[in-house]
Order: sequence, then C-alpha cells, then structure tokens
Amino acid sequence: MDLFEYQARDMFEKHGVPVLAGAIATTPEQARAAAEKIGAGSGGVTVVKAQVKVGGRGKAGGVKVTKSPDEAEQAAKAILGMDIKGHTVGTVMIAEGARIAEEYYFSILLDRSNRSYLSMCSKEGGVEIEQLAVERPEALARIAIDPNTGVDDAKAKEIADAAGFDDADKPALIEAFKALWTVYRDEDATLVEVNPLVKTEDGKIIALDGKVTLDANADFRHADHEALEDTAAADPLEAAAKAKGLNYVKLDGSVGIIGNGAGLVMSTLDVVAYAGEDLRGSADGFVAKPANFLDIGGGASAEVMANGLHIILGDEQVKSVFVNVFGGITSCDAVATGIVGALDALGDEATKPLVVRLDGNNVEEGRRILAERAHPLVTIEATMDGAARRAAELAAAAS
Ligand code: GDP
Ligand code: MN
Repeated sequence: MDLFEYQARDMFEKHGVPVLAGAIATTPEQARAAAEKIGAGSGGVTVVKAQVKVGGRGKAGGVKVTKSPDEAEQAAKAILGMDIKGHTVGTVMIAEGARIAEEYYFSILLDRSNRSYLSMCSKEGGVEIEQLAVERPEALARIAIDPNTGVDDAKAKEIADAAGFDDADKPALIEAFKALWTVYRDEDATLVEVNPLVKTEDGKIIALDGKVTLDANADFRHADHEALEDTAAADPLEAAAKAKGLNYVKLDGSVGIIGNGAGLVMSTLDVVAYAGEDLRGSADGFVAKPANFLDIGGGASAEVMANGLHIILGDEQVKSVFVNVFGGITSCDAVATGIVGALDALGDEATKPLVVRLDGNNVEEGRRILAERAHPLVTIEATMDGAARRAAELAAAAS
C-alpha cells in the first residue's frame, strides 16, 4: 500500500524524522484556516500540496508556495479537483514553508535481486531521480543495507560519505538517515523515499516530501495501518470481498469465476479467455472474458461459497458463473454441499446461471449431491474446458 504524502509525514514525525508542520484540507476554506495556523511559524509562508499517489506533482502545478492565508485559499481552489496523471486531487496538504538552501535525495528500498535492502542517496535531489540515475549515475550513491544491522551510525556515515556531503552537514544527516531507517523497519515498509530532503538556510535537515510503501504481508502486525487505507479509491466489490476475507480481484469480463487454489483459478481465467475467443464467431463478435479472480481456498464451506457468490453476483457485468473446484483436502461432497447451501442461502439473489466442474477427492458423491438438488440455474460439466466453453456460451447468450 502506498501512502499519501501527509500520511508519510505523520509517520516520519512519529519516528523522529525532522518534518515541518502540516495539515490537510478538502476545501479552500479549510485550506485558509490551516494556513492561518501553520503559517504563523513561517512568516505567513505555506506550501499547498496536492495529495495524490503519483510523483511529479510539482511539475504538474500541484505544489504552490503561498505568502498569506488568502493566497493559500486561492492555491487550494486551483489545486483541488485538478487532474494529475489521471489522479483527481481531493485533498491538499498545507505545509509550513521552508527556506531551502539545498535539495537532496534519500531512499531505502527492498532490493529483491540482492536479497537485501538498498539505500540510495544524492546531493542532487529535488529533480527526477530516475533521470539523474540515467544521466549521471555517479551522482547517486547506492549502499547495500544488511537487514540484520540496518542503518546504524556506521552505515549512516557510510551513506553520507558515499554521497559526498560536507562534514559539517553529516551529523544532522546521519540522525535523519537513522530515523528514516526506523520508519522502514518498524512500519514494515518496502520503500521510504524523501525527495527532497533539504538543508534549510539556517542549516537544518528536513524531510520536505515523503513516499512510503507498506508491505501488505505484514499488515497483521500493524493494526494501525488499516486506517491508512484509501477506502474511497478502492473498488466497492474488492472492498466488500476484503471485508469478508476473500481473495478477490475485479476484472472486466462477464464470466464470474470461483475456484479453490490460486493456481487453479489462474488457469481457469486462461481457459475461459480461450473459450471466449473461440466462440467469437458464433457469438456475433462478442468475446466472453473472466469477470474476476476469486480463490476461496481449501475450505470451500457453504458460508465461504455463499460469500463468494454474493460478491460475484453483485457485479453487474457478470452474466454467468464458472465454479471450478478440485477436491483435495476438502472433498467434493463437502464442496457440493457448500454450493447447494450457498444457493439456498442466496435464494432470489441467485439469478445467473452457474456452471460447476468438480473433480478430485470423492467426486462421484459431489456430483450426485448437485444432481439430486437439480437447481435450475446449475449445469454440471465433467471437464474444465467443457465448463469454460459452457460458461462462455451462457455469457454470450445473455449479453
Ligand atoms: P513532487 O513534485 O510531487 O515530488 O513534490 P515535492 O513535495 O517534492 O515538491 C516539489 C518542489 O517544490 C520541491 O522540490 C521544492 O523545490 C518545492 N517546495 C516544496 N516545499 C517547499 C517549501 O516549503 N518552500 C519552498 N521554497 N519550496 C518548496
Ligand atoms: Mn518530491
């Protein structure tokens, strides 16, 4: 999960990284009020900054230095609603203005190819770092970080030396690097980037911008991270699935997919895509495609099946559903009972045809249970390819 700049700022502050005062606003009036408070510490100067999860806001006109609450209100009016690389600005941060003497770059990231962490640092920050890395790679220091020792005094000094900072600036930089490492480690981040890290005219080191990516695999040990999620931007179906603990990704086709095991679901998406492509000619050019990825895991109980079907049937684009289950630890009779139970639980809500393919452990009994129930919406198919074709035909017929 990527954080907004203001969330990164708050996180930096919590871990002792030097930052300036900042507050968010969603209307020009709120921006004015925030500027009145925050500008008091900086001679009325504040910076109004678009809060979007994309770089290059400055260049796009999303960062404006203002000299009074009046100007801040005008800047907020101009920035709120602005489109920056496809992201609409709904929030601005009003930050205390800084008198910048120099702009630096600093980041810590996960270096997968070296199974390690990597710190990158440059005296030439502020600019687009990708460009600097290509044009003048020697100006960008790259120092590996051993995850066991992290950024201690020696490592922070090594980074500052490699980037070629003046000795006088090093003590403050070393403290900032160590604090940024604390953010990276304690919050389980995969990226902490500061561009620019600035030296002010009175010699202070301050993180003026912040980009943080948190590792979702570590969410379980950070109850407080849930509140950082941008629920407004999430797909409503994906949000509902997440709330039910389902592994669901919305796609844009018309064949709903439910399977058990990520590998099986991935190959189910493929066979449905192939079947849809094959049927193009007989379906007036309509191409049936998968509507989603949904892995209901090993359990496949009636409750999980009902939750999954509920999500998929809530997708207006879905015209048919393909349930593809391989009985392993969970036997097919349990899965069949789950499907029947789910359909009964959904009642009138179940309105779209279901193609079911069961195989594996105790498959005969599973098919018998489905046949006996003889639900009018359910078709049983023996093979995965046959089921994919049937589901694609049903979707085409209903479109
Ligand atoms: P980005 O373009 O999305 O990376 O946004 P930044 O937060 O990095 O801001 C872009 C640029 O605006 C910085 O590199 C600074 O040059 C400038 N800037 C940001 N905050 C201040 C400030 O408080 N005072 C001054 N004078 N300039 C600032
Ligand atoms: Mn920046």
